[in-house]
Amino acid sequence: MTKDIAIIGGSTAGFFTAHLLARKGCKVRVYEREEDVRLSPRTLIVTSYMRDLMGSLSESSVINEIRRFELFANGRVAVISLKRPDLVIERSKLIQRLAVKAEANGAKVLTGHRFLGLKPNGKNMNFTILRNGGGGWVEESANVLVGADGAFSKVAQSAGWPKHLTLPLFQAVVKLPKDMPSDATRIWFVPEDTPYFYWLIPHSPTQGVLGLISKEEREGHSSLERFLERKGIVPIDFQSARIPLYTKWIPSHRKLQESHVYLVGDAAGHVKTSTMGGLVTGFRGALGVAEAILNGGSSRELRALRRELGRHMLMRKVLHNFTQAEYAKLLDMLNIPTKHSLGVFNRDETDKLLWNLFLRKPRLLLLGLRSLLINKQLFRLFSI
Ligand SMILES: Cc1cc2nc3c(=O)[nH]c(=O)nc-3n(C[C@H](O)[C@H](O)[C@H](O)COP(=O)(O)OP(=O)(O)OC[C@H]3O[C@@H](n4cnc5c(N)ncnc54)[C@H](O)[C@@H]3O)c2cc1C
Repeated sequence: MTKDIAIIGGSTAGFFTAHLLARKGCKVRVYEREEDVRLSPRTLIVTSYMRDLMGSLSESSVINEIRRFELFANGRVAVISLKRPDLVIERSKLIQRLAVKAEANGAKVLTGHRFLGLKPNGKNMNFTILRNGGGGWVEESANVLVGADGAFSKVAQSAGWPKHLTLPLFQAVVKLPKDMPSDATRIWFVPEDTPYFYWLIPHSPTQGVLGLISKEEREGHSSLERFLERKGIVPIDFQSARIPLYTKWIPSHRKLQESHVYLVGDAAGHVKTSTMGGLVTGFRGALGVAEAILNGGSSRELRALRRELGRHMLMRKVLHNFTQAEYAKLLDMLNIPTKHSLGVFNRDETDKLLWNLFLRKPRLLLLGLRSLLINKQLFRLFSI
């Protein structure tokens, strides 16, 4: 029997899932609340893993390539040269490309359609959609419902998944400093402002985005403004949003009566806690969910993603309370072989990366274990 699948959310994760399922002959509809999938621009950075996952699908959205990382902490600098470049992506171009591909495979895209709630009905899932522009309500139905509707997923909420904790992300579009090459990304560790880091990612020879993840909404914006002032960088525009904080693996499938609901992307919380990047992990989740739908449940990709997200959480636990001095010590510990490992293995293949780092510098493992032990009590308190 042909599977009839409704996907809520027409963005990266939703359209990629639609493409994967439609090309296998499923009947797919994508419901997006916005009238137009051509959203305002947003600059994202991903590893070359994206090319491995998506092949030519990602190419038209690549606007720059990053060949080295410059890491700064307490006056120390470490430079990592990447064997395969990181990709700077224009999200709106990627969404359009994926939408076109999904439609070419037979998926139907309905913009201006907002999901409101669901009602299981035996083997089918009934759900309510509000059409924009006075189009009124309609009751729709499908065998499988996929929530790809972002961090505040209404599908997840309606099907009984717990809410994600979220953190605010702030970034400013800026003119690049004169000494900044457009194929480098700068990372500053400033734990007084954020337990994460500041980034500066060039998206053209003259402009880039500078941002941070903050613990608090108000703190974040003022930290960013102070940092820009200290660096003498003038903001051109600001972007902000909340990102789901991955705290533990939550199964992305639920059975309601005889029908099935899945979550992908930010809706499933598939975001790397170490860097808060969610694009590649969202695509891996989409691959896994498509695999599970087609195979009737099991997915190797979802199991691998679970392990990957677990390793990122472990790294976050190690780094979360590092002081300036500890970051500086960490950068000092990076010798030629460890920098080589960091340049060869990227942050989407942490199994190989961590193994290689520890093999080349066992003291890094000791540093990590010590930090984990010290932070244990704190993480219990904040359940991070
Ligand atoms: C400013 C910023 C910078 C970022 N930088 C990076 C980066 O450098 N690298 C990286 O890997 N990640 C980055 N991320 C994270 C990354 O963008 C997200 O993880 C990813 O885009 C999530 O995609 P998604 O398709 O799951 O969700 P979203 O892109 O949030 O899409 C959800 C879609 O669902 C629709 N929707 C919501 N509710 C409904 C409803 N009720 N009915 C119908 N439709 C609905 C929305 O309109 C939207 O189109 C960044 C995020 C932000 C905000």
